[in-house]
Amino acid sequence: MPPTQHKDYYATLGVKKAATPEEIRKAFRKLARKYHPDVNPGDKKAEEKFKEISEANDILSDDKKRKIYDQFGFYSDQIDPAAAEAAARAGAGRGAGQGQGVPFDFGGFDFSEEAAPGAGGSGWGSFRDIFSGMFNRERQPEQGPHPGTDLEYQVNVDFWTAIRGGTARLQIQRQEVCPTCHGRASTGGAQQCPECHGTGQVTQMGGRMKFNIACPRCGGTGKVQHACPTCHGEGTVYRTEPLEFRIKPGTRDGQRIRLAGKGNAGVNGGAAGDLYLIIRTGTHPVFTRQGDDILLTIPVTVSEAALGGRIEVPTIDGRAQLRIPPGTQSGQKLRMRERGVSSATKESVRGDQIVTVEVAVPQVRDERSREILREFARLNPDDPRDALWAKV
Ligand SMILES: [Zn+2]
Ligand SMILES: [Zn+2]
Repeated sequence: MPPTQHKDYYATLGVKKAATPEEIRKAFRKLARKYHPDVNPGDKKAEEKFKEISEANDILSDDKKRKIYDQFGFYSDQIDPAAAEAAARAGAGRGAGQGQGVPFDFGGFDFSEEAAPGAGGSGWGSFRDIFSGMFNRERQPEQGPHPGTDLEYQVNVDFWTAIRGGTARLQIQRQEVCPTCHGRASTGGAQQCPECHGTGQVTQMGGRMKFNIACPRCGGTGKVQHACPTCHGEGTVYRTEPLEFRIKPGTRDGQRIRLAGKGNAGVNGGAAGDLYLIIRTGTHPVFTRQGDDILLTIPVTVSEAALGGRIEVPTIDGRAQLRIPPGTQSGQKLRMRERGVSSATKESVRGDQIVTVEVAVPQVRDERSREILREFARLNPDDPRDALWAKV
């Protein structure tokens, strides 16, 4: 069996042999970010490189493993650290390194690749596991500034206010900067972090690898601030406040109004979020709004439809005259230009009013009217279904 190939873990991480644990940790972090498989999807070379630097870090970040590696030029968990120290003493002056000429009984342990932790494919935590631990460390500790979240409120505006404009009022519940701690979440004074017991570091497992990471609770400082009693360390308190805002003429249903900085307060100097108001406009029994147009159905008599004429129709501005052309059919649409809603976005632009004509057929009750209609039928013998029959 070939002996384990010597790997220069220091070169792999790009650190000197005398590197401090902190230097090793930093070097690994830097390289791991660069070669992480999630950053290089499908890149086999990067994955290999990542395995190499992980293996190097696994050995060099562990004081006992590093000693064995320094002494023998490789690492095996079957070497007793005490024996390694003994060997180190025995080998002193000979130059550490290649595992040659060391007065130590290897006892026939397996030098194959599998024996070296991390060299094979098995035994690794998934990269994601490893990295979820690593990236946790990058999370903002509680002390940092946090922007406030956005708020969204639905506002019901009646039909006429949406068209003509006006003022709307509503109660907003939002997080405000805590008046006691002014958003610092603390009233001053620090205590030992209960998560890391003041060490500033916690250990995370990533498969076979252990990572010492900065404590996420205290951000590695080992101390946490006394929580403010008013906001219980949140930095913000809930408050209901009345809000009054302007509704522009021509505001449409579903329109969003953004009030910058009126959302939830940020923590520790973080910017406040925005407040979004979603407008729901009310309906009207006669007028139907479609964008800036007003839709309306108007009944006309048979004679108005047949002979044409001027009728009075309601508009959003009051009564207006509408000309019914002779021979208007039921269901026909007549457009009244610029009788709709003034646009909220385009200056001096107005929608139209679109009138759907509905011919009202009279209930004939007197004999004279019946006679006239029979007479009318005799004078107009055309069958309105002729065109239809022609197509069947
Ligand atoms: Zn507070
Ligand atoms: Zn801590």
